[in-house]
Amino acid sequence: MAKKPVPCIKCGGTNIVIGDCNYSAFNYFQAICTDCKHEVSGQCGTFPKMDMMVGSWNNENDPNKIVKGYNKAIKELEGKIAALKQKIVETKFWGDI
Ligand SMILES: [Zn+2]
Repeated sequence: MAKKPVPCIKCGGTNIVIGDCNYSAFNYFQAICTDCKHEVSGQCGTFPKMDMMVGSWNNENDPNKIVKGYNKAIKELEGKIAALKQKIVETKFWGDI
């Protein structure tokens, strides 16, 4: 079954126009909410599949997917913070000598 675009995250609109530019090289697609002009775009192949373009829109407009992405980013940042805190400890140690 074909994917359906989720409502626009910014205005809740459901009038989403999706398509590509039909370029044979450096093609790109756009998905635009016609109610508020919120746009998702990106590079794609010569004959992009509608499911791929709808998926890209959904990745940036589906609250569940956005929360998943934020949680992943939080985990990555927590890892970076832990690594930096380790350096702070090391710096203090050598600074005290
Ligand atoms: Zn909108």
